[in-house]
Amino acid sequence: MSTQQIFLFDFDGVIVDGMHEYWHSSLMACDKYLNSPYIKFDQKLYKRVPNIFKEIRPWVKYGWEMVLIVHQIIKTENQLNNFNKDDFINEYHQNCQRILKENSWIAQDLQKILDKSRGLQIDKDFEKWVNLHKPYFEVINFIEELKKRGIKAGIITTKGKIFAEKILNQLNIFPEFIFGYESGTKIKIAEELNQKYEILGFIEDRKKTLMDIKQNSETSNINCFLADWGYLKSSDRYKLNNEIKLLKLDNLNELLAI
Ligand SMILES: [Mg+2]
Repeated sequence: MSTQQIFLFDFDGVIVDGMHEYWHSSLMACDKYLNSPYIKFDQKLYKRVPNIFKEIRPWVKYGWEMVLIVHQIIKTENQLNNFNKDDFINEYHQNCQRILKENSWIAQDLQKILDKSRGLQIDKDFEKWVNLHKPYFEVINFIEELKKRGIKAGIITTKGKIFAEKILNQLNIFPEFIFGYESGTKIKIAEELNQKYEILGFIEDRKKTLMDIKQNSETSNINCFLADWGYLKSSDRYKLNNEIKLLKLDNLNELLAI
């Protein structure tokens, strides 16, 4: 019996552009659940995604970080803005940890209120919430093409599984599996999958995740593709070693020749 072939995909920035949703849901989490004394709420904030949020998004690994970033952007004093943005991203991880500590927040709690704000929107107006995501139709078509060839698709995301699943089903995509943040790190998940499937490739827009996959002896055989259309830092496109290939949306179908 031959091993089932599968393609792995990250979700945010690879299958959909969810920028409006990230801003909207994180803002709602700050508005309704965070109870911070440092923000004063203005409904106008929902109208458009500020550039600074878009610019910082490539550094985000987990959803809770977006709640923290939105909080910093909308603070009444000492906001995160264009003047201090570089200081923030140059020590991104340390800054997130510092801000958690200063506010006596716990990352998991921020993740919970983000999920809660998503849940609230889904209950209230599912269509409207789904429409905050812009699908990359080239990727959707690619997944359909895989299916025709008997190749499965699997999704590994740092989003809550239920949210990714709802959007995918709306797009008429029913992957073999979806692993969300609840299932542990992407590396561990990839290790387990690598034993069970023949993984043809992993398409992800976070370079560090792909580097970790390549450096781990259990997963280093996986073909790694950095999604050029995703949330990339400008430096990500340079200094790519041979092991991680930059993939353009228009070149997706070339992967079928592997
Ligand atoms: Mg991503």
